[in-house]
Amino acid sequence: MSYDPSNIFAKILRGEIPCDKVFEDDHALAFKDIRPQAPVHVLIIPKGAYVSSSDFSAKASAEEIAGFTRAIHAVAEKMGVLDAGYRLIANTGANGLQEVPHFHVHLLGGRALGPMLTRPR
Ligand code: AMP
Repeated sequence: MSYDPSNIFAKILRGEIPCDKVFEDDHALAFKDIRPQAPVHVLIIPKGAYVSSSDFSAKASAEEIAGFTRAIHAVAEKMGVLDAGYRLIANTGANGLQEVPHFHVHLLGGRALGPMLTRPR
């Protein structure tokens, strides 16, 4: 799947659509999910044009991967969930029910999150 620059997260990165920004550096942007599933629900996206987790893992440079991973930690720290814990989710492709084709990691926390998976829709 090739990268579609008209996806909504690409528009957020270009500043064409607003977001509730939590964190930004050279490698990543993080903002609150518009439909939060937990008291803390932040999306962390790389600045590069990667469709999915697998696209990012296969093609991003070591610097991008390290920077993105550090950004996840920075967001967890900023949201105050390091001690209590949190969950990271990267929905990937059709079976992963990925809706937005720009790689993103969901960071969820702020309460005990329960089982990892619910029943299939
Ligand atoms: P996924 O199924 O992993 O692709 O999830 C995409 C997520 O993006 C969903 O949780 C949506 O609520 C969220 N989302 C979609 N549009 C926006 C937006 N404009 N601002 C913040 N979050 C969004």
